[in-house]
Amino acid sequence: MALVLSGRKYARVVRASLRDRVSELQGSAPGLAVIMVGDDPASRVYVGAKEKACKKVGFNSRVIGLPAETSEADILGLVGELNCDDTVHGILVQLPLPDHISVDRVASAVLPEKDVDGFHPVNVGRLWRGEEGLFPCTPSGIVGLLHHHDISMRGKNALVVGRSNIVGKPMAALLLRENCTVTVAHSRTVDLMGQCRKADILIVAVGKPEMIQRDWVKPGAVVVDVGMNRNSNGKLVGDVAYNDVFDVCSAITPVPGGVGPLTIAFLLENTFKARAKSSAE
Ligand code: NDP
Repeated sequence: MALVLSGRKYARVVRASLRDRVSELQGSAPGLAVIMVGDDPASRVYVGAKEKACKKVGFNSRVIGLPAETSEADILGLVGELNCDDTVHGILVQLPLPDHISVDRVASAVLPEKDVDGFHPVNVGRLWRGEEGLFPCTPSGIVGLLHHHDISMRGKNALVVGRSNIVGKPMAALLLRENCTVTVAHSRTVDLMGQCRKADILIVAVGKPEMIQRDWVKPGAVVVDVGMNRNSNGKLVGDVAYNDVFDVCSAITPVPGGVGPLTIAFLLENTFKARAKSSAE
């Protein structure tokens, strides 16, 4: 019987701990500013969820909604103002951005110390160099979840399937920092199934419904499913065929209720960390 790694339960633990830490703070509460450009319905849901999560733990949150035709220069100007605002400890630019705006230029304009998404090149460098910094929320949450369940990572063969800048690459860097032996697979990997079968820790972030099947998984492996997809029946499923894999692995994250809730919980953690760092300076 596999252990179900519930991100939903762990996110509750993280939020409760944040509430306690906020109540002990001297001075202002942590503040998160979210910039949303345009009116993407999914973005509106995510931003609403972030705002609600901030309120629950006693953070200040400010959502700045801008029309889709806002120029890049105006967005960079706004980021500059928020960088100088002492009540704002974290700045998040909700993706996707309209095509005329460079995600890289906007991400690089956020002060690294307020970059709670962990996308700024300085934070990416700090992550790979093993230094302190703010690191992407989803992979940070996964490492937190594994620690929470006392799953040892040291010396384990970890395979990360997917190499995006948001999940796959930072996940690999964090597992390396946990002393795993890390392999990163992607769409050009030869014999992906063989690679998967060698993994003690298998982390899948691809975006293909139930692509990882039972015979791809090493018996006793820990399986973390980042994928969030709709299958042909419209049901939300991960990248792993959960029911098939369940009794082969030793632990697995469900979809939904696995990795999903960790992302916002660790956005809050990053905002708290940014605030703590700013008041220590
Ligand atoms: P991207 O589309 O940016 O990256 C997907 C990666 O998967 C790429 O590196 C791609 O390889 C690789 N890939 C695609 N097809 C295959 C294949 N057949 N075999 C092996 N590798 C393959 O996605 P994201 O990293 O942003 O997201 C991945 C999934 O995680 C999505 O379902 C997304 O919805 C979900 N997600 C969930 C989050 C959460 O909070 N739970 C947060 C973020 C994402 P290549 O580089 O060669 O193209």
